[in-house]
Amino acid sequence: MNILVVNSGSSSIKIDLLETRTGERIHQVRIERMGTEACSVVIDKSESIPLGDVTHKEAFQIIFSEQNWVVAAVGHRVVHGGDLFRQPTRIDTNTIENIKSLFPLAPLHNPANVAGIEAAMEVFSDVIHVAVFDTAFHSTLPRRAQYYAIDHALAQQHGLRRYGFHGPSHQWVASEAARFLRTDIRQLRILTCHLGNGASICAVEYGRSVETSMGMTPLEGLVMGTRSGDIDPGLLVYLAKSEGWDLTALDQFLNTKSGLSGLSGIGNDLRDIEEAAANGDERARLSLQVFAHRLRKYIGAYAAVMGGVDAIVFTAGIGENSALIRHRVAQRLEFLGARIDEDLNRTASVCKSHPVTEISDERSRVKVLVVATDEACAIAQETKKLVQALDHVSTPKVIPLAVSARHVHLTQAAVEVLFGKGAQLTAYKPISQPGQFACDQKVNLIGPRRRIDGVRVIGPVRPKNQVEISRTDEFTLGLDAPIRNSGDVKNTPGITLEGPAGTLTIKEGVICARRHIHMTPEDSEAFGVKDRDVVEVAVESDGRNLIFGDVLVRVSKKYVLEMHIDTDEANAAEIKPGMAGVLSDGGMTVSLRVRSTQFETGDRQ
Ligand code: ADP
Repeated sequence: MNILVVNSGSSSIKIDLLETRTGERIHQVRIERMGTEACSVVIDKSESIPLGDVTHKEAFQIIFSEQNWVVAAVGHRVVHGGDLFRQPTRIDTNTIENIKSLFPLAPLHNPANVAGIEAAMEVFSDVIHVAVFDTAFHSTLPRRAQYYAIDHALAQQHGLRRYGFHGPSHQWVASEAARFLRTDIRQLRILTCHLGNGASICAVEYGRSVETSMGMTPLEGLVMGTRSGDIDPGLLVYLAKSEGWDLTALDQFLNTKSGLSGLSGIGNDLRDIEEAAANGDERARLSLQVFAHRLRKYIGAYAAVMGGVDAIVFTAGIGENSALIRHRVAQRLEFLGARIDEDLNRTASVCKSHPVTEISDERSRVKVLVVATDEACAIAQETKKLVQALDHVSTPKVIPLAVSARHVHLTQAAVEVLFGKGAQLTAYKPISQPGQFACDQKVNLIGPRRRIDGVRVIGPVRPKNQVEISRTDEFTLGLDAPIRNSGDVKNTPGITLEGPAGTLTIKEGVICARRHIHMTPEDSEAFGVKDRDVVEVAVESDGRNLIFGDVLVRVSKKYVLEMHIDTDEANAAEIKPGMAGVLSDGGMTVSLRVRSTQFETGDRQ
């Protein structure tokens, strides 16, 4: 499928026509210096053609009046999706209005993105246009990583929270790393370091972004080409007072006069800074040190956030090309189990046809990889998935909804510790998934803070103990339970279980179950989804429309069609659970809207 990818900024527009099966670039357009008389375009590496001071629309019309490209759909990079967009979205007038409503959050980027969308929709009026958001991949950040410690009401009113950026790149390189390591991404904790002119790091825990260094705007976090990254906000107040700077001056200072450029006084190109440092320039040396130190600090912090790390990925202009930065950053990571091989690091080189290379030495427990990012290809793939999915969902299909109350799965050994030697789980009543039953047995959960008594055990016994609680329960018990797929308990907190015959402390096993839908292979065919796809579900309840994102699809012949959400979510949606302690039907209906799969570990299609 030929997808046109448009990355429209305020001063430049990048347009690529990609064939999605091979990732081949069929055509390429680069427009530079938009908004000035010197604006020009290069098409397929031809001579630069002057355009003059044109609008986005005029530029598109001039360029495409002469071309005869076959385009199946258009994917647009949109920087800020705010709270409104958590996945790629088909563009219609409503979508454009919504993106416009986010202008205050991204005044530099979103207006230019919309100008590109409107221009492309006029020229390519008979194909589907899709918006792919930089922020969407980070919509899985847990709340603790989303919030700033500021007045909550004000934060809610203005959407002042951490959103994260560079989503398509982090997602792409994490997938590439998993493919290279021949390991399912759902088994890996990956740190992806996107180091270009803009720079950010992302903690990708079992396939989902759980922490990232950019925040409400792409200014927070690492040292960048011209952006400061983290800074004490008190410094701005000080400058405003002592220099009399207004908001424009502060904005320029932070966004265009800081970072490597501000530190070095040489400019934002790392190559120049590396050369000057080699020639003895002290400020250039300092710039490299601050850049590497900040990144190393984040790697340590994010390893702690994920409770360890399996792979560290370097990507984008600096990450892919600067052996010096990789060397400096990796210098003190041995305590994490990450050691690079200096020869491999020096000679590492990646490209489209050889996108991943390993630079860790053989004793390194953590794999250190250099991965070529390809944001245009990532956007093209997302666009294609949505276009294909749209073919399947002309009419919404109904799925029964069930509320999953807190419950416990036990091993036979645990049953015997808690209920006595030789004890067996006994069925109190069947639950909707065939073969499973709510048990007569209940246990008490004893957390570091408080206890929750009378939690139902679900049978039959399983190979691993697992305690599934809601977010409210997390606070009651006093522990941080990650959102996980059932059965996936590695690196989760432990807890003490109390039964009539004894207590048992498990080292791991407490999770907040990820929202999921059980379905049969026939259902999956009908919905046009497959096992482990991640979808979005619209729930219509009392005339209100609620969207549940990040819903995992589980397909098995053993299942009956049903979506499971937890009690907190049910309460938020005003869905009442049935009897506490069992899984019960809520009697609601949902219509399923397919969202693109977050990761495909198979072949790129
Ligand atoms: P963006 O896409 O964010 O504009 P890029 O990913 O192209 O940025 O990265 C640009 C950065 O990569 C610049 O700082 C540039 O100096 C740096 N870079 C590119 N090639 C090299 C190299 N061979 N050695 C060191 N730095 C490099």
